[in-house]
Amino acid sequence: MTSKHRIEIVEVGPRDGLQSEPGVLPTATKVEFINRVIAGGARRVEVTSFVNPKKVPQMADAEEVLKALPRREGVHYIGLVLNRKGLDRAVAAGCNEIGMAVVASNTFNQRNQGVTTEESIAAWLDIAAAAQQAGVVPQVTISAAFGCPFEGEVPMERVVEIARRVAEAHPFEIALADTIGVGVPAQVTELVSRVREAVPGIALRCHFHNTRNTGLANAFAAVQAGVRTLDASLGGIGGCPFAPAATGNIPTEELVYMLERSCYHTGVALDAAIETGKWLQEQLGRPVPGMLVKAGGFPKPAAQAA
Ligand code: ZN
Repeated sequence: MTSKHRIEIVEVGPRDGLQSEPGVLPTATKVEFINRVIAGGARRVEVTSFVNPKKVPQMADAEEVLKALPRREGVHYIGLVLNRKGLDRAVAAGCNEIGMAVVASNTFNQRNQGVTTEESIAAWLDIAAAAQQAGVVPQVTISAAFGCPFEGEVPMERVVEIARRVAEAHPFEIALADTIGVGVPAQVTELVSRVREAVPGIALRCHFHNTRNTGLANAFAAVQAGVRTLDASLGGIGGCPFAPAATGNIPTEELVYMLERSCYHTGVALDAAIETGKWLQEQLGRPVPGMLVKAGGFPKPAAQAA
């Protein structure tokens, strides 16, 4: 057996996953969700977002969620913020990591954040400095890096240029996100290599949606291109607002299954993830998109022990 490479999984189910849920979940359910994924091995969890509650009612209880979470050594509670006001709320609520999003296409950035990509980059530079001053780890995601629902193809040069600009704030990490799930592995390989070349020394993370069933293939391409951190959501929840019937993020349990059986180590327990997937189905009142929640892992834990 060769020594295993470590791949870190950032659990985004409680934020990216739940955000598009039509019904607002009780705060206690969200808190249990977060506690379950941490008990199952997750160390970085996107727990909520600090955005306008009128626009995203599901995240209106951001402060209450944080208040209910015990501080845990080595665990990062990530709050998504889109502006300075969001950052101030996240810091006050006790997030120890914040994520900001800059959308690669201007139209999408305008629709999502009400400002231009250029203005979001400026906001990020300010947010990153303020976060560092507050002792909070800042990272940034370049959204729609693989395609835009309004503008279509996003030129790689544009993503690379945005990466250069956001890197000026010395982020802990830059993420490339396939927000609408249009990317394919060859694109991942090329974009990761070009961005890495543009921002040497900054860790890259990837964020994939499974809208067109290429999510896991993209994740594996990212790993083979040297990416060591991936976002995923339990059960694969988190549909895309621009593809109403679509599945969500790549499912955490499927990513764990694929990586662990490919000689990578994730630190996430597969059985616990599948159990939480089943629990999540009960909370949502319908099946989750993830297939391992139905099929289970392999080999069965009992057979493994025997
Ligand atoms: Zn997403």
